[in-house]
Amino acid sequence: MYTLQRYILMALDPVHIGTGGYRLGRVDLSIVREPGTNLPKIPGTSLAGAARSYAAMRYEKQRCAGQGQNELSKNGHCGLPTCPICYTFGSIKGTEGGNSGRVNIADAQLLLFPVHSLAGPVWVSTVDRVKEAGFTVTAPNMERGEFATTLPGWDKPINLGWLLLKLNQGEISIAPPISLQAWDALSERLVLVDDSLFSQIVNSNLEVRTSVSIDPLTGAAKEGALFTYEAIPRATWLWSDVVEDDYSSGEKPWPVSKKFNGKKDKAGELLGETWKKPLDVVKSGLTLAEYLGIGGMGTRGFGRLKVVGDWEVSHG
Ligand SMILES: [Zn+2]
Repeated sequence: MYTLQRYILMALDPVHIGTGGYRLGRVDLSIVREPGTNLPKIPGTSLAGAARSYAAMRYEKQRCAGQGQNELSKNGHCGLPTCPICYTFGSIKGTEGGNSGRVNIADAQLLLFPVHSLAGPVWVSTVDRVKEAGFTVTAPNMERGEFATTLPGWDKPINLGWLLLKLNQGEISIAPPISLQAWDALSERLVLVDDSLFSQIVNSNLEVRTSVSIDPLTGAAKEGALFTYEAIPRATWLWSDVVEDDYSSGEKPWPVSKKFNGKKDKAGELLGETWKKPLDVVKSGLTLAEYLGIGGMGTRGFGRLKVVGDWEVSHG
């Protein structure tokens, strides 16, 4: 049984998934990018890590969170076939090895990128990008330097950051395949540009912040030691595909009816939802990223990501 589920995500905070190293360049701490396009992305491994941790938290099984070798799971994951966390995400267990899990989460790619303009905040994308995410799009052919917009009555050039673009007045419409939360707020603030400009617009409008270095020994700010870091800005929309590949169909080996929604069961009461398949476990974990965030700088107000909608693209 194979199912492809697509998730649309909205950043509620700036999201920083670092490359894990310092770079000489515009900022000290840069974020992960797609090699070909140079566009920022959220790695699928980061999404999977967050989904796993939060699902394990919800299920009150901290041992099965994490990578199986950290302080949460010193002795490895439980690895039991009856554990929805290990069944879904796989397990690593001591010398016995483990299993590889039933889901694969793809990197989240940029869908709609917020930029300040004369018209206020607008969300920028390209025809190919919104099409690829499964939206229905009508738009004129645009040359480099042109834009088309859903801004009602807009008849002027527009600036995106410092870049000034010329209006193409061809007909434009963009519609998601299902109703998405928060879509109404931006459906009349969309700007489409040519592919060749998109990366430039994104990279010159990323959130860049400056922070004070903290001395790890004393906890005090190091004098004069500032560092800059970049982040995907708040209100950015992204999309990611989750593939469930499960050779066993039908009811899962974990005790759905007893562990979940059972009146006597503490975890079930807290859970308040039924996990019938691995995709349910993923969604449950990802949904908590709206409150707990992903990646991040280890501070509050960073990394919260909201699932605004998801749908099944195909199955077989
Ligand atoms: Zn487990």
